[in-house]
Amino acid sequence: MLDLVIVGGQARGIVVRNIVTGEIERHEAHAVVLATGGYGNVFFLSTNAMASNVSASYRAYKRGALFANPCFTQIHPTCIPVHGDYQSKLTLMSESLRNDGRVWVPKNPGDNRPPSQIPEPERDYYLEKKYPSFGNLVPRDVASRNAKEQCDANKGVGETKLAVYLDFADAIKRDGRAVIEKKYGNLFQMYEKITAQNPYETPMMIYPAVHYTMGGLWVDYNLMSTIPGLFVLGEANFSDHGANRLGASALMQGLADGYFVIPYTIGGYLAGTSFPEVGADHVAFRDTAKEAEARLDKLLAIKGKRTVDDFHRALGLIMWDYCGMSRNNEGLAKARKMIQELRAEFWENVLVPGVNEEFNQSLERAGRVADFFEFGELMVIDALARQESCGGHFNEAYQTEEGEAKRDDANFCHVAAWEYAGDGKSPEFCKEPLVFENVHLTQRSYK
Ligand SMILES: Cc1cc2nc3c(=O)[nH]c(=O)nc-3n(C[C@H](O)[C@H](O)[C@H](O)COP(=O)(O)OP(=O)(O)OC[C@H]3O[C@@H](n4cnc5c(N)ncnc54)[C@H](O)[C@@H]3O)c2cc1C
Repeated sequence: MLDLVIVGGQARGIVVRNIVTGEIERHEAHAVVLATGGYGNVFFLSTNAMASNVSASYRAYKRGALFANPCFTQIHPTCIPVHGDYQSKLTLMSESLRNDGRVWVPKNPGDNRPPSQIPEPERDYYLEKKYPSFGNLVPRDVASRNAKEQCDANKGVGETKLAVYLDFADAIKRDGRAVIEKKYGNLFQMYEKITAQNPYETPMMIYPAVHYTMGGLWVDYNLMSTIPGLFVLGEANFSDHGANRLGASALMQGLADGYFVIPYTIGGYLAGTSFPEVGADHVAFRDTAKEAEARLDKLLAIKGKRTVDDFHRALGLIMWDYCGMSRNNEGLAKARKMIQELRAEFWENVLVPGVNEEFNQSLERAGRVADFFEFGELMVIDALARQESCGGHFNEAYQTEEGEAKRDDANFCHVAAWEYAGDGKSPEFCKEPLVFENVHLTQRSYK
């Protein structure tokens, strides 16, 4: 999908590029349902599928749908660490491993000995020590930030020093290898295939990675966005993700959205709305298709020197360094400028080989990366506006004495929804207050 078509204020169809032939197609409808997933790949490296992207949501945003909480990103603590510049994806090791694995780093910064040579008293089981009641099972954001903290203190392990150990030696001693193999055999095998290390004999190495994005297009309880007739489901919307990430699952949300909500709410919309006759030859479809074609032509005509992936990797690094696991105002302001500069270079110097009328993955990716460039700035704007630490957003200026996230409920107990205001202009901020009737907000504690 390249764009959303709006007629008379209603979402009435989409424009797509046939990825095999390059043909630009128009599809008219009475309503549009987007279920196009999350945008974790704005960071280039993530656990997401390579094709995951923000384009469908971002195009809808540029057509007037509000984008909510874009800066909220979930970083998963249990991934195989980055191992080189040519890597394009990160592998998630299941969360379940933290049930039996013990997380540790050497007590002494810069200790380069292999794990087997580091005796027990010289190991720091930092999660167990800091959070005695939850130990290795603290929530993902807490486990991730603590791993980063250890690596920042020069206690990281492995070649890059951006990893911590996840050790099964005690669990194997306690339950026997057969029990551990029954529980995690497939994961251990996958780990060994990727890293050439045997986790039955030596601790796994893990590091946090971008995994899930809690922001998305704003929707009401009927899953309709601020554009009448545009419905958004699953990770692509902003809804329910607190529940999804902390207590339930994305599968549950997918099922709820797809089976139980949309069949009724879209019916309600269709029944209660009048629809003028609109075909794919309508001027709005023609104009939207023309704009999409012009954008593709522009990308192909640049014929610059840097590949799409090269730009994407550079953008991802900016996002990871300044709008990742922990953020600060200075870094965010710097990132915004860096994104703008890199985006300008992208439109002058990107190399998209081939033509439109063929299977052309570089062209597909170029369109997505162009959207990531604009969207990345929106994430930074949102992060800068939220002067507190909350959920998937940790601003270093707002933490407790013990380094935990410190919310500011008096000023930020709201959804931040952003409205597109035109190219080169800062988006408009719209606030949806969060009202709690049955529960009281408290500070989280996993001690
Ligand atoms: C490795 C991994 C492990 C996970 N494990 C868990 C877990 O254990 N529990 C849990 O709750 N969650 C888990 N998640 C999260 C969960 O899988 C996702 O949140 C969920 O799959 C999102 O579903 P979705 O249908 O909203 O989007 P997706 O499954 O991402 O589907 C979106 C689809 O839209 C397509 N698309 C995107 N843009 C366009 C476009 N412009 N035009 C046409 N098509 C487009 C994509 O190609 C894709 O097919 C995991 C995620 C990953 C990456």
